Amino acid sequence: MEDCIFCKIVRGEIPSRKVYEDDDILAFHDIRPIAPVHFLIIPKIHIPTLGDAAPGHQLALGKIMTMAGPLARQQGADQGFRAIINSGKVGLQEVYHVHMHIIGGPEPLPPMLVRRRTDRVE
Ligand code: 5GP
Ligand code: ZN
Repeated sequence: MEDCIFCKIVRGEIPSRKVYEDDDILAFHDIRPIAPVHFLIIPKIHIPTLGDAAPGHQLALGKIMTMAGPLARQQGADQGFRAIINSGKVGLQEVYHVHMHIIGGPEPLPPMLVRRRTDRVE
């Protein structure tokens, strides 16, 4: 928690371009956006990955889910968006403080995962 980048953003020790804040969650623009709309929503408390979520985190994680739509629309993604939570090593998570990416338009996004031949079940 001491060295966590996103905890530092919550504490104001690292600047961020804020989208929304309340007692439980914070939303801010991704520093390396991959689409015209790309921001992150995080709980203020340190939860390393989605895989670590527990009943005590329901308020913050529930708020992240219910604020995704209003904040996406406010940021201009009014025709839809993609919400991504990378989790752990297999999910290629880079920052180990759970965060939901909100990524959006105006153009449709590329497919999420490319299907490989080996994915086929026949
Ligand atoms: P992950 O791969 O963990 O799902 O995504 C981490 C995201 O955090 C990346 O998209 C990266 O650009 C973003 N990020 C990393 N460090 C910072 C930072 O200091 N400030 C902001 N605003 N975004 C960051
Ligand atoms: Zn943290």
